[in-house]
Amino acid sequence: MDNARSQELFEMAKMIIPGGVNSPVRAFGPVGLKPPFILKAKGEKIFDADGNRYIDYVGSWGPMILGHARAEVVEAVKKAAEDGSSYGAPTEKEVVLAQMICDAVPSVEMVRMVNSGTEAVMSAVRLARAYTGRDAIVKFEGCYHGHWDGLLVKAGSGALTMGVPNSPGVPSDYVKSTVTACYNDCLEIQEIFADIGSRIAAVIVEPVAGNMGLVPPDIEFLKLLRRLTAEHGAVLIFDEVITGFRVSYGGAQEYYGVLPDITTLGKIIGGGMPVGAYGGRRDIMKLVSPSGPVYQAGTLSGNPVAMAAGIKTLEILRDNPSIYSETDKKAERLEKAFNSSAERYEIPLHVNRVGSALSPFFTRQPVSDFKTAVKSDTRQFAGYFGEMLRNGIYLPPSQFETMFVSHAHTEAGIKTTEQAIGAAFLRLK
Ligand code: PLP
Repeated sequence: MDNARSQELFEMAKMIIPGGVNSPVRAFGPVGLKPPFILKAKGEKIFDADGNRYIDYVGSWGPMILGHARAEVVEAVKKAAEDGSSYGAPTEKEVVLAQMICDAVPSVEMVRMVNSGTEAVMSAVRLARAYTGRDAIVKFEGCYHGHWDGLLVKAGSGALTMGVPNSPGVPSDYVKSTVTACYNDCLEIQEIFADIGSRIAAVIVEPVAGNMGLVPPDIEFLKLLRRLTAEHGAVLIFDEVITGFRVSYGGAQEYYGVLPDITTLGKIIGGGMPVGAYGGRRDIMKLVSPSGPVYQAGTLSGNPVAMAAGIKTLEILRDNPSIYSETDKKAERLEKAFNSSAERYEIPLHVNRVGSALSPFFTRQPVSDFKTAVKSDTRQFAGYFGEMLRNGIYLPPSQFETMFVSHAHTEAGIKTTEQAIGAAFLRLK
């Protein structure tokens, strides 16, 4: 596989962009390889600067549920751009997308558009703190909520240890009110509430964790978070940046039937353009400026081109509900291929899947939280990843990320992937 041009671009990039990339995991560090530089993408495929093509399961890290460059979405973007790409003034498109989100996501009565998932989360936490008049927030180990200072926190050593920053540059004062707990651990979160419940402004959780590899929730855990936050006057925030419009049209809250107070969204609602949003109960959202005192703003928020891509994407998903069952079936086939190849070649493997999102973990043990996720053999993951790439399959380059199947994946593409999994596992044996 020729990769001379990608290598050349990577070397040039490293001189002028830190690490050669604009988001760290793109550098392929965890798998010890150099990344292909992407030229274009269409449907299930992604094409690099050396003329190689791959079947893509990164999907831009989640947004591309319809596949790349879907004709109707491209058309909507072109039309919007022709009408002017930004006005910094209200538009009908913002109202349309906001209404679609309120109609789809069960707990969302009002919504504010921003430009990324990170912005959505940081605004949601500010709002929760203002609403409750409290400071403490609880997050779960292995959940990622963007790169906002307050949530860039390493787990403390015990249940009630306050956080310590996990990036230089984050003042320890910023995270002293952030408590980290273990995902899916019902006992620990009860202890935390028993101890400091009256100080907790919000619990923020990925209702399906997607940033330690895919880890499904224990439904009793989600229900417990709902009950505890309600009992103690804290706000429950579901970070649905990945799960929103992915695990079902109404997100994980619809899928599991547990409703948060505030929801953060991103990825799919922008149809591949930079968009985020936070929304929820009307009485809470009304505190956001200018209807309330909680300040939050954005020059490009509600950008018309991004709104157009989001509206078209959601329209297609809303009007074709079979997209979900069809896409989930394709992911189920890959899950089976992983399991049968693992069995045939005696590779320790545990696959987690929710709908069209999945992760093969190179461990025999079930993966239900961060501690079990990190038991995976990352060397074996790197070997598998390299084999798959050589066989034309483009995967998230880390054990602790999630594969996304899109509706554009074809029968031939899935078959090729099944065969590639078999071939890769044979080499791992
Ligand atoms: N929340 C979750 C669950 C995410 O997965 C991500 C990004 O992957 C974010 C928030 C941050 O979103 P963004 O990268 O758009 O800032």
